[in-house]
Order: sequence, then structure tokens, then C-alpha cells
Amino acid sequence: MPAGQGSGSGRGSGMGRGGQRQGMGPPKECKCPGCGYTSPHQPGQPCANQACPKCGTNMVGM
Ligand SMILES: [Zn+2]
Repeated sequence: MPAGQGSGSGRGSGMGRGGQRQGMGPPKECKCPGCGYTSPHQPGQPCANQACPKCGTNMVGM
């Protein structure tokens, strides 16, 4: 019996790499969870390192 049809073709797990991730990129804005103040995110500086100029709470990325 000729072996050609059966279970197990090599394909299946090839879609894992994507060019650009969308959704998990760096935040564009930092926001204060305390008072709602927002400031533009500075590249290279995590929002958590920035303190809100109004209330002093650490900012969070958006
Ligand atoms: Zn604040």
C-alpha cells in the first residue's frame, strides 16, 4: 500500500512570529492615577519614574 496519505503533515506550527506587536507597545502618555493629570511619555523613562507635578503620585503608562 502506497504511503502518501496519512496523518501528520509537517505544517501546523508556523504562525508565531509577527512583525509588529500591537497593544503591548510603550505608552504614549503617562497618567496620574491620583488626580488624572496626564503628561507625554518620555522615551527611555518609565512613567513610574515620573511623579505627578500636582499631587506627587507616581504616574502610570497608558
Ligand atoms: Zn496627580
